[in-house]
Amino acid sequence: MSDLADHLRRRINAEGPLTVAQYMSQALSHPEHGYYMNRDPFGAAGDFTTAPEISQMFGEIIGLWCAALWREMGAPQRVNLVELGPGRGTLMADALRASATVPDFAAAIELHLVETSPVLRCRQRRSLNTLTPDRRPLWHDDFSRVPAGPLLLIANEFFDALPVRQFQRTAAGWRERLVALEGEDFRFVLSSPWEETPPMPRQLASSPLGAVVEVRRAAAELAFAIGRRVTDYGGAALIIDYGHGEHAVGETLQAVKGHRYHDVLATPGEADLTAHVDFRALAEAAGKAGAGTFGPVPQGEFLERLGLSARAEALALRATPEQANDIAQARKRLLGEKGMGRLFKALAIASPGAAVPAGFE
Ligand code: SAH
Repeated sequence: MSDLADHLRRRINAEGPLTVAQYMSQALSHPEHGYYMNRDPFGAAGDFTTAPEISQMFGEIIGLWCAALWREMGAPQRVNLVELGPGRGTLMADALRASATVPDFAAAIELHLVETSPVLRCRQRRSLNTLTPDRRPLWHDDFSRVPAGPLLLIANEFFDALPVRQFQRTAAGWRERLVALEGEDFRFVLSSPWEETPPMPRQLASSPLGAVVEVRRAAAELAFAIGRRVTDYGGAALIIDYGHGEHAVGETLQAVKGHRYHDVLATPGEADLTAHVDFRALAEAAGKAGAGTFGPVPQGEFLERLGLSARAEALALRATPEQANDIAQARKRLLGEKGMGRLFKALAIASPGAAVPAGFE
């Protein structure tokens, strides 16, 4: 068993069971043994593949979306272009390449990457080196460290990795799901009943017996901070992820390893852990900070409105038959209902009174 499993066993023996959020946060982000801290998990040889790794079209379209938003903002001379959890830096590299066609925007960009993993920071540096020769990106552990100023922010498959707590409604009241030890093995157990309703959307507090509700406080706090930033300084954020358009019940925490589902508790630190994003919760939090929100709209519709199919056809014109086949496959995965087209969604957060951003009409 891994070092992280041993560390978690000692902690549970000393302090008692962990909340699901504590377990998830340690499994993904423990400074030494966390899943993201010492590996590049993407691609065929890794554990999972994300939209920017499927096709350059994804990042290109997002780069042009940012350029359009920058114009809407009144073309400020400096704008913080921020990406949360940039992975291999592929999305940002494609976005910067596409936005070079709008030189004034390209010149205004100050690049900030929010990333905790040293391995992935290195990978991002390599992806972006040649694209930003005169303006190096700055890395931060946390969005709060990004300097004040007009903001354009991108987050693809970032919020799904933030920790969730889980509560279950039982005959005795709400109980929290916890991770305990049975011998050497991790097991889910339920806490003793809460006296009050745990923090959760009001609509879910009357869920039927047996229902599991997932609550992601870190995500709501971050959405609030982003909302505050665009309210104070102008700008917009584009959040793309998989999840629910409205508050919903259901246990969605999952582990993936080697492109297959994996037992969530079997090998902490060695499998990716994610859970559905509650887009309504993000929109509400950003709204509380004064920002406007748009969507969520299904990823397929969003990318189609921004011209992904036309871009695919243009690329196919100068492609070999093999490349043309890859482009067609990528288009299907990004747009199709069986691929990422419907489960994945896009949400925009924008300064108060901003016009409807492209793709959200
Ligand atoms: N956006 C990329 C990668 C998604 S995977 C893509 O679409 O390919 C999640 C990314 O978020 C990784 O880069 C991971 O290291 C980073 N990450 C996860 N939790 C984080 C946290 N709490 N703070 C900062 N970065 C985090």
